[in-house]
Amino acid sequence: MAGIYLHIPFCKQACYYCDFHFSTSLRLVDALSDALVHELKLRAPAWQDEEIQTIYFGGGTPSLLPTSQLEKIMGTLYSLYKVTDKPEITLEANPDDLTISKLNALKDAGINRLSIGIQSFRDEDLQRMNRAHNAQEALHCIRLAREMGFEDLTADLIYALPELTDADWVANVDQLMAMKLPHFSAYCLTVEEKTPLEAHIRKGKIPEVPEETAPRQFELLLDMAATHGYEHYEISNFAQPGHHAKHNSNYWNGSRYLGIGPSAHSFDGEKRWWNVANNPAYIKTITAGDFPAEEEILDRRTRYNEYILTALRTARGISRMHIQTQFGDKMYSFMLNSLRECDTDWYQVLGDSIVLTRAGKHYADRMASDLFILGDDFI
Ligand code: SF4
Repeated sequence: MAGIYLHIPFCKQACYYCDFHFSTSLRLVDALSDALVHELKLRAPAWQDEEIQTIYFGGGTPSLLPTSQLEKIMGTLYSLYKVTDKPEITLEANPDDLTISKLNALKDAGINRLSIGIQSFRDEDLQRMNRAHNAQEALHCIRLAREMGFEDLTADLIYALPELTDADWVANVDQLMAMKLPHFSAYCLTVEEKTPLEAHIRKGKIPEVPEETAPRQFELLLDMAATHGYEHYEISNFAQPGHHAKHNSNYWNGSRYLGIGPSAHSFDGEKRWWNVANNPAYIKTITAGDFPAEEEILDRRTRYNEYILTALRTARGISRMHIQTQFGDKMYSFMLNSLRECDTDWYQVLGDSIVLTRAGKHYADRMASDLFILGDDFI
């Protein structure tokens, strides 16, 4: 089983915290959509034997894609790839794009899951982060999507936003819980370098968030999600039983995926490649019949480190058997020795699995780095 990711690199305006690849000029939308179709055609022969279980339109803002282009892309996918009978087909959408006619078009094109970028139900937060939608649209779009027959919905929220008090955060989560979505994601705000947010904080226009805010708001989130029956199945992801996101779960399980579009990453089990993060360069190279990609063969150490990093973030945790069978006795012993150095409050061993405790969920990345192999001994 494999997944296909399509990157739609356009946005109406730049959210201050964002460091993804996107352009706010829509001038190249048609040319880029044609290039996506072209890349799907060029890549298809190498993916002939794969059953495509999931398709994911990410961005950028895929809900900006014109219907005719979305239909062309879906038609190409179905004609050239072996898509399974009941694929999960997700499209990321911003609330201000989800009109009745847009939702109808998405449904007709075969989209069966929407990932809605709510981020906050408070206008203050949305304006401060330069989001294109307002709180009213955030509430309205979920009702509308449901009325139009979209049941499989997920929404994103962000915590540790500047000036978001714990009471504000609880109100935001409460609002989300009231919607009873099958799935949601919650991300801690990260101040990335070279973003407008970083510049605004540096110049004192937006206040810095105190260090202790994020862990406190994460704790509040864990309590509220559990009270409402959500499984915390990955550090940033919560689902009602049976509603884990298949596409992202496949990334975490180490499945193969094909990334189409500028900046999209792909993985075939041994090799990773990533397309150029530049729209005109991507269009030009693909149109000439070449791949605008750099690649890296993943050595055993890199595959081990990536497995540790992703598996530890999931509720399934690190499988000791997986480490032993996939990486051999020496790397397995290394992992066990490194584990002895980790804080025992952060993890527990449950059968074959090493899983984070509640306290450990605050230190997932730090604990993963404690288990990493950094030298060349195991390559
Ligand atoms: S809509 Fe999404 S991709 Fe676009 S700028 Fe905002 S956060 Fe970034």
